[in-house]
Amino acid sequence: NVSVVLFTADLRLHDHPPLRAALDGSRLVVPLFVRDPAVDRAGFAVPNRLAFLADCLRDLDAGLRERGGRLVVRSGDVVQQVVKVAAEADADEVHLAADVSAHAHRREERLRRELEGQGLRLHVHDTVTTAVPPGALTPAGSDHFAVFTPYFRHWSRQRPRDAVDAPRAVRVPDGVGSERLPSRTGIADLSPGLATGGETEGRRRLTAWLRSGVAAYEEGHDDLAGDATSRLSPHLHFGTLSPVELVHRARRAGGPGAEAFVRQLAWRDFNRQLLAARPAVASVDYRARHDRWRSAPEEAEAWREGRTGYPVVDAAMRQLRHEGWMHNRGRLLTASFLTKTLYVDWRVGARHFLDLLVDGDVANNQLNWQWVAGTGTDTRPNRVLNPVTQAKRYDPDGAYVRRWVPELADVTGPAVHEPWRLAGPERAALGYPEPIVELAEGRERFLRARKP
Ligand code: FAD
Repeated sequence: NVSVVLFTADLRLHDHPPLRAALDGSRLVVPLFVRDPAVDRAGFAVPNRLAFLADCLRDLDAGLRERGGRLVVRSGDVVQQVVKVAAEADADEVHLAADVSAHAHRREERLRRELEGQGLRLHVHDTVTTAVPPGALTPAGSDHFAVFTPYFRHWSRQRPRDAVDAPRAVRVPDGVGSERLPSRTGIADLSPGLATGGETEGRRRLTAWLRSGVAAYEEGHDDLAGDATSRLSPHLHFGTLSPVELVHRARRAGGPGAEAFVRQLAWRDFNRQLLAARPAVASVDYRARHDRWRSAPEEAEAWREGRTGYPVVDAAMRQLRHEGWMHNRGRLLTASFLTKTLYVDWRVGARHFLDLLVDGDVANNQLNWQWVAGTGTDTRPNRVLNPVTQAKRYDPDGAYVRRWVPELADVTGPAVHEPWRLAGPERAALGYPEPIVELAEGRERFLRARKP
């Protein structure tokens, strides 16, 4: 018998239960990836992620070829393509990783209907894209956790299943045609500092991180210039690394750094269990605060372009554009600046992040935006981050600002975070914008709007 394995956000060979199950049950396997135009239509096929995806598919194909197989790539409606490939290969079953978005739910339902109508079996595997599956942990009286701390208490007591080895050999039936693999060359508008994709690169980074990064994570993770986080987020997004394997390997590494890192992996599962239970929160407020957001297109544009006049905000926004990635502390303070200080709808900011982030992810992006905007699960929804205080705390000597804002590269001392304190002529010579808003005014406006 023959199985089809549909790869989606799990572009790897190590710790891949659907592939393992398919190989255990079948002599021949078709590893399939479908480029679905529905993903483009929903606005998710942006240059940075398409380039990273192309790297992932090439690496997956290379890994399969080393094992005697190959990757089959098709374009079109994912369900129709799976049915077509299954017919061409004379397959009797299809394996797929469970996922959490509304798109993934619909895909699974449609696949089940279509395949079962034709006498094929669909197997959905639930610990491929999360360490702990959505819905596995629930508080009394609800289908999901709305507060992280109790979720994390339960999550920490779980021991995820054992990781599965990569297969030694994969045999693909003859006669199943594939399109050419996509390539990152030729994709326009890429961030110049974009990371490389693929499982090989992901595993290399993971090993280096566990050897020489994670131990200092607890003290270093908030230091903007130190850049002491794992940068594994795009690999988790595309599934070139397995969250189950990460939890096991980090726990084995041990120590406070590894513990703090595992806690962040739990945040990822937390957001996923929330989106799985409430798919609409990708665009609808999780907790309605009856906001009447300001329409401020010029201010929003200054924010996007990194010329708000607040150095740490501008540094982070320029890092995003240059690398297709932003430090978590930067994400927090730029999102707070947009949604609270400027009081602009979180959806405006989330869209811009999704346009550029290589790790741009419906669950993590939308729910972190909601968290910062106070429409999500933050138990202190009205806190406003002050970008100057944040800068002094998390970029104490200004190295991050100087790295990303060349206008301020030669400013010494604390003025790098408050260039408006410089004398008039000195300030004018910088060519750096004046603040687009008074912080105290923005804060008052926001707090007034949120008054019950
Ligand atoms: P590390 O600090 O090394 O953490 C390890 C992993 O844990 C990350 O790769 C990520 O998978 C997970 N993680 C870390 N922080 C969080 C968090 N707050 N919530 C959920 N998971 C977390 N993360 C995304 O993966 N995609 C997004 O689109 C995204 N958008 C965000 C938008 C905003 C406004 C904010 C505040 C945060 C967002 N995050 C997003 C979460 C976080 O900023 C990134 O996961 C992190 O910065 C990635 O860098 P890293 O891999 O070095 O993280």
